[in-house]
Amino acid sequence: MAIEVTLIDYTKDPTRALYMAYRVCYSALTPQQVMARIDDERISEETMRSFVEERLATGHTSPLEQVWFEFGISGVTRAFSHQFVRHRVGISFEQQSQRYVSYKDGSFPYTVPKTVEAAGMGERMESLFRDAGDLYREMVEAGIPAEDARFLLPNATNTNFKITVNFAQLLHMCDLRLCTRAQWEFRRVAALMRAAVMRVAPEMGRFLQPKCGELRMGYCDEGYDAWKGCPIGRKRPHKQELFELYNAYRRGELDELGQDDFTLIEEQRIEGRAPGAPA
Ligand SMILES: Cc1cc2nc3c(=O)[nH]c(=O)nc-3n(C[C@H](O)[C@H](O)[C@H](O)COP(=O)(O)OP(=O)(O)OC[C@H]3O[C@@H](n4cnc5c(N)ncnc54)[C@H](O)[C@@H]3O)c2cc1C
Repeated sequence: MAIEVTLIDYTKDPTRALYMAYRVCYSALTPQQVMARIDDERISEETMRSFVEERLATGHTSPLEQVWFEFGISGVTRAFSHQFVRHRVGISFEQQSQRYVSYKDGSFPYTVPKTVEAAGMGERMESLFRDAGDLYREMVEAGIPAEDARFLLPNATNTNFKITVNFAQLLHMCDLRLCTRAQWEFRRVAALMRAAVMRVAPEMGRFLQPKCGELRMGYCDEGYDAWKGCPIGRKRPHKQELFELYNAYRRGELDELGQDDFTLIEEQRIEGRAPGAPA
């Protein structure tokens, strides 16, 4: 079954909601006065957007909890769902039950990973699932409750979710689960959630990045070897390198800017850039 992620609903005008939440903290105006200024356009869309963007770069995160997104997620596995429900804060889950929903004819939906297919072991895996399905059906027919017959079912069994998640948790989840260290299904779900938010609120969706993204931490805090093997590692520095640079700076090992550098600054012309223009 293919993974599907659908944005069902979300906070009406999320940028306005976020602006309101932040603005109330920093303004002598009442929330009602702020709202009136938005309504009569004394506060423009652009003002709200740039204010929110500035705040998003800070550690003031509680306003992010005031904006929520509802998703329908289907075609994921029980292997994925074990990881998904580990997120405890700012997210509510409803998951298809294996007690109330039974697979009466013994055919349960499942996913065979591409790596298993590629290794030529897909058919063996599916054959095992068919046997498990047959025994499951016999058990249910023998009166064994679905909650016990399900003990047979593999991690590969598909499951469905309806979730509500606030923007703070969505950012956190993408920090972890858009990282190439995360499991492929979770990366896919996080990417699809990001794409869905991008379609309705790109100014917020673009902050949904892996934690090393330039709009998040900006560096990698995973193991050094993992960073070396990461396909986007060449775009983001590892924290060890940042510390090494910082320590070298503290030890006075970084060269001081000399006359040569200033000559370069004055004279160097970079193709396509006017002298004096910022890089
Ligand atoms: C690559 C990867 C590998 C993993 N491997 C394993 C594994 O081998 N085994 C395993 O068991 N898990 C594993 N996990 C799951 C991981 O340990 C977390 O349970 C999961 O990522 C949920 O994230 P969170 O703890 O930030 O929870 P969230 O609920 O998303 O927490 C949100 C924030 O609130 C904080 N928070 C939440 N509850 C508390 C609390 N009670 N006290 C203090 N702070 C709190 C969190 O620290 C976090 O900052 C892995 C996760 C990843 C991304």
